[in-house]
Amino acid sequence: MYTLVYSINDEEAPETVYVNLTNSCTNKCIFCLREQKDDVCGAQMWHDDNYKLEDLINQFNAYVPTPHEVVFCGYGEPFLRREMMKEFCKYLRAKHPEIKIRVNTNGHANAIYKTNVAAEFKGLIDAVSVSLNASSIAEYNEICNPKIENAYEEVKKFIKACVNEGMDVSASVVTGFDKLHNIDIKQCEAIASSLGAKFRNREFIPNGY
Ligand code: SF4
Repeated sequence: MYTLVYSINDEEAPETVYVNLTNSCTNKCIFCLREQKDDVCGAQMWHDDNYKLEDLINQFNAYVPTPHEVVFCGYGEPFLRREMMKEFCKYLRAKHPEIKIRVNTNGHANAIYKTNVAAEFKGLIDAVSVSLNASSIAEYNEICNPKIENAYEEVKKFIKACVNEGMDVSASVVTGFDKLHNIDIKQCEAIASSLGAKFRNREFIPNGY
């Protein structure tokens, strides 16, 4: 069975579990773990998206005791399985309203669907971490290789849209993945602040999460 829900560090009773909704993505980041390995802490991450909500719920329920936090992350962009994510969030809200729900996203959702996806998830998501990854359009395009137009501007707009929905929003940057890129962290932090978001510098983790 492929991995839809996983934990890191081989914890027996993890407080946080991660959800691998899809392997599709509208970026091809130069630091993406998918280019380097097939697993995260031993969990095989590749699948064909051919699963049901029930499979997701069953894998989640295998974690006992119930984790405190669910993070949509994995080897792809979670919002590309927008309806599946929505249904699973509704399930969690109904069965485990105490669980904190976060999404790690590339921030392309509103541009892809041409609607305000952030608003659709109001009340279903507590926190969002949006990959800003650069301080300029040129830098973003070089690092993330986006498949959508005006991606950098769309990411910034998505950050703002999530802030407007009252979510706990962080704009993140990955550093330490090579010696060629010196991302202007101060400038990224200023951009996040101007959008009303927190800022997070995520040191590259070879094992991933
Ligand atoms: S947005 Fe995430 S999943 Fe997509 S290519 Fe970048 S690091 Fe990989």
